[in-house]
Amino acid sequence: MSLPPPAARPRRAPLALRVAAHEDLGGGLRWLTLAAPDVAAAAEPGQFAHVRCGGGLGPDGALGTRRAYSLADADPDRGTVSLLYRVWGRGSVWLSQRRPGEVLDVLAPLGTPFRLDPHRTPVFVAGGTGVAPFIFLARRARQKGLRPLAFVGARTAAELAGGEFLAAAGAEVAVATDDGTAGFAGTVVDLVVRALEETAAAGGLAGPSPALYACGPHAMMAALAAACAAHGWPLQVSLETPMACGIGICLSCTVPGPRGPGFYRRCCVEGPVFDAREVAWE
Ligand SMILES: Cc1cc2nc3c(=O)[nH]c(=O)nc-3n(C[C@H](O)[C@H](O)[C@H](O)COP(=O)(O)OP(=O)(O)OC[C@H]3O[C@@H](n4cnc5c(N)ncnc54)[C@H](O)[C@@H]3O)c2cc1C
Repeated sequence: MSLPPPAARPRRAPLALRVAAHEDLGGGLRWLTLAAPDVAAAAEPGQFAHVRCGGGLGPDGALGTRRAYSLADADPDRGTVSLLYRVWGRGSVWLSQRRPGEVLDVLAPLGTPFRLDPHRTPVFVAGGTGVAPFIFLARRARQKGLRPLAFVGARTAAELAGGEFLAAAGAEVAVATDDGTAGFAGTVVDLVVRALEETAAAGGLAGPSPALYACGPHAMMAALAAACAAHGWPLQVSLETPMACGIGICLSCTVPGPRGPGFYRRCCVEGPVFDAREVAWE
């Protein structure tokens, strides 16, 4: 097995990171900013933080285990990194109760980053809190002179997350909802495929050809992977497979590859970002 690139090699010593700010965005979403100068300086878009949620093991082992959160932003000048998360189960409820000044036990930055292609227009496709890594990636793309497009989907308008952060980071944003309560009525995959097909028919993007990047529910990414294979569009995906250790030891987050039985990759170390062709989608 080849080693991941140097920037992606995990720092295995847990860090004690102070909560600098913690904002309730409404709709069950929160924006958590941690004071972490070393992480902010080293982090790449697509990498994640593994946050210990709770002070000890609960009866079902849920408390005290870590939860993975994509780095939604990193500001080396301020020495901060931020996470965008939905308050859902035991770990994220515990996290939502942390106040500025409290210290969290965090492993970061972990995992492999997205690879931006300088010769293609970045096209982000996000479902739910899958927008998180694209806020950081949009900022990085703009720093490299690229003009990212972002397509964000949800079941209904109330569940749309993070579009305003993407726009503030420099992406042009379009939204889709399954029930038509905001933006395009249909899935975000239908929207992005239609938009790129129409643009191609009209003579192509104003800039170079597209490179797609996706994060969201498995069904969304499977449908997008099929569409990208059919159109010849390159696609990188960030997988949110539940994981325990986050550093490649426990093998709880392995995902099957396309080469048949026995070929598995660890989401925490070889991922979470994969070329879509490296993943078995069925
Ligand atoms: C690499 C990586 C990056 C991630 N990045 C983010 C991120 O940026 N933001 C973020 O919010 N989460 C992210 N996650 C998911 C996160 O790690 C947790 O799984 C999530 O916060 C749920 O933890 P919990 O303790 O609230 O729920 P748990 O008690 O652990 O889960 C309870 C059950 O609810 C399900 N569940 C949890 N959340 C949801 C949901 N939103 N919708 C539907 N079912 C759900 C779980 O699958 C589980 O079966 C990421 C996961 C990975 C592996």
